[in-house]
Amino acid sequence: MGLLSQGSPLSWEETKRHADHVRRHGILQFLHIYHAVKDRHKDVLKWGDEVEYMLVSFDHENKKVQLVLSGEEVLETLQEKGERTNPNHPTLWRPEYGSYMIEGTPGQPYGGTMSEFNTVEDNMRKRRKEATSLLKENQALCTITSFPRLGCPGFTLPEFKPNPVEGGASKSLFFPDEAINRHPRFSTLTRNIRHRRGEKVVINVPIFKDKNTPSPFIETFPEDDEAGKASKPDHIYMDAMGFGMGNCCLQVTFQACSISEARYLYDQLATICPIVMALSAASPFYRGYVSDIDCRWGVISASVDDRTREERGLEPLKNNNYRISKSRYDSIDSYLSECGEKYNDIDLTIDKEIYEQLLKEGIDHLLAQHVAHLFIRDPLTLFEEKIHLDDANESDHFENIQSTNWQTMRFKPPPPNSDIGWRVEFRPMEVQLTDFENSAYVVFVVLLTRVILSYKLDFLIPLSKVDENMKVAQKRDAVLQGMFYFRKDICKGGNAVVDGCGRTQHGAEPAAEYTLMSIDTIINGKEGVFPGLIPILNSYLENMEVDVDTRCSILNYLKLIKKRASGELMTVARWMREFIANHPDYKQDSVITDQMNYSLISKCNEIANELCECPELLGPAFRKVKYSGSKTDSPN
Ligand code: GLU
Ligand code: MG
Repeated sequence: MGLLSQGSPLSWEETKRHADHVRRHGILQFLHIYHAVKDRHKDVLKWGDEVEYMLVSFDHENKKVQLVLSGEEVLETLQEKGERTNPNHPTLWRPEYGSYMIEGTPGQPYGGTMSEFNTVEDNMRKRRKEATSLLKENQALCTITSFPRLGCPGFTLPEFKPNPVEGGASKSLFFPDEAINRHPRFSTLTRNIRHRRGEKVVINVPIFKDKNTPSPFIETFPEDDEAGKASKPDHIYMDAMGFGMGNCCLQVTFQACSISEARYLYDQLATICPIVMALSAASPFYRGYVSDIDCRWGVISASVDDRTREERGLEPLKNNNYRISKSRYDSIDSYLSECGEKYNDIDLTIDKEIYEQLLKEGIDHLLAQHVAHLFIRDPLTLFEEKIHLDDANESDHFENIQSTNWQTMRFKPPPPNSDIGWRVEFRPMEVQLTDFENSAYVVFVVLLTRVILSYKLDFLIPLSKVDENMKVAQKRDAVLQGMFYFRKDICKGGNAVVDGCGRTQHGAEPAAEYTLMSIDTIINGKEGVFPGLIPILNSYLENMEVDVDTRCSILNYLKLIKKRASGELMTVARWMREFIANHPDYKQDSVITDQMNYSLISKCNEIANELCECPELLGPAFRKVKYSGSKTDSPN
C-alpha cells in the first residue's frame, strides 16, 4: 500500500509544516524523472498482479473465526525464506494495512508472450501454499475482500478492546489499533488523516432491509456524541480507516512501451474500472451486518477521507485553499491522452503554481494538470530522517503524494535510475475466493489491454459518465441490474482520425457516442447494439499462436467472466448473500452472528482449497474441463 520509509514519523502538525517542502521537492523529483525518461520507448510489455490476503483462525469448538494479528511475523519469514535468500524466488511479499493482512505478487513480472497466461494461476497457488505453510493449526490464508465481522467485539486473535482515545491512531469505537500493521506508516497515516480532517472518518453503508430488519434501523452510541451525530439511520456506521484499508483487493500493473502508450492505456482502462469492479463484486457485509452494497469502493473512499469541513464544502474556505470534490481514494478525475481531452468534463481542482511550473518545464497541459491535481493533497506521513533528499536521485516526496492518491487507475513514472518503464496500475477489482477466479480476472484484464493496443480500440466516454458508472457498480447486484454508460463504436476508424499511438481526433459529438448497456451486453455483446468484449478477445485469440494448454486455461477464464456477466454464475457477493440467507441461524434481520461468519468463512476456505465444489460460483466441476477442441473453439 505505497511507500514504506523507515524512521521516526512526524505528527500531523509537524508534517503540515513541511507540506509545501514535500510538494516542491516532489515536483522537482518528478521533473528529474520526466526529463530523463520521457522519450524512453520500446520497453517491452511486462505485467504483474497483486493479491491481498487475510490470515484467519478457526475456533471449531466455539464456532468462531477471527482475524489473526500475525501478518508482520508471517511476512518476515516469507521475505527471509524468499526474496532475501534467492533473488529469483517466485514470489514477493509486502505488508498491508491490517496486522492480519499480507500482500503477494509474482517474484518477477510476467512478459508479453501468451504462454505466460498459463503460469499466473500456478504462481498464485504457490503463494497460497507458501504463506499457508507458515500458519499455525486451524489457521488459514483467505482471499476475501471484506471480513464480515470486521469491527465486531472480539474479531481479532488475540482479542483487543478498542480504546477510543485521542492519543491512539483510529480513536475507533470498534476497530482496535492493534489490528493496524505495526509498521509506523500505517498508524501514522491513520492518525494524521483523522487530525487533518479534524474529526474521525465517517463511513455509513446502507443496510440491507430484510423481512425482520428493524425499520428504521438505528444504532445508538450513548457514550459517544461524535458517533451519535455521524451515524445515519438505516446505515451501518463505521469510524476507522481499518474498515476500508483493512479490505483486500486484486490489482494489475502494466509496463507500457512508452509514456504515450501508458497514457492511452490509463484512459482506456479507466472506463473499464466500474464494469470489472461490478463483475468482481465480493463485499456485501460490514461490521456484522448485511449491507445493500456489493463492493468495497465507497467504504475505503470514506475511510481515508482526510478533507476538512472547508474542503468538503460544509464551511466557507478560510484555512484551506480549495474545495475538493472527492476523497483521496476515488475514481480518476482526468484523462491523460490527447484523445481523452475532450471527454475531460469533471471540474478539476489543481495547484495552479505547480501547473504553471510544469508547463514551463515543457510538460503538456494534460499531464501537467494531472500532476497538479494529485498535488492539491498534503503529505500524510513524513519521517524525520527523510525530509531532505537528493531530488535528482530520489523520489520519495513525489511518491509520498502519488501513493496516497488511491485512484481507480494509477499512472506510474519509472523510479529514478532504474530500468523500469512507464507503468499503469488497474486498481478497482475485488479479490476472489480462489486462485482460479483471481487468475481469470487478471488474465481478462491483461488480454483486454492486448486487444486495446492491437486493435486501437477506443472506450472513451465523458469522465462524468464513468463516475456515474462507479456509483452504479457498487450497488447490490449491479452486475445483473445495473445499466452502464458505454461507448457504442469502439473501433477507431469510423468517425475518428488516428494520428499515432493513442491519439485520435473524433468527428462525432460525444452525446451520440455512448449509451446505457448492461454488463452482459458489454461483456458478451448484443446483436445490433455492441459486439461484446469477450467476442473481441476471442477473435484476437484466434489470430494468435497459442499452445493448446494455455488456450484451454484462457478459455476457462473467459468462460467464468462470460457467465458471471450473463448471470449464469454468481458473483462472490451474490453467493455470500445466498449463503447467509440460507443459513439455519439467520433470522432475516440482516445480522451476521459469529457462528454464521464461521460457517461462511469455513466454506470459503474449503472452496479456495478445492475441498469442495461450488458450481453456483465457479460452474460445474469448472476447473476440470480439459481442452480437447480445435484452435477456433470459443468459450460457451
Ligand atoms: N486494499 C486496498 C483496496 O482494497 C488497496 C491498497 C493498495 O493500494 O495496495 O483497494
Ligand atoms: Mg496492496
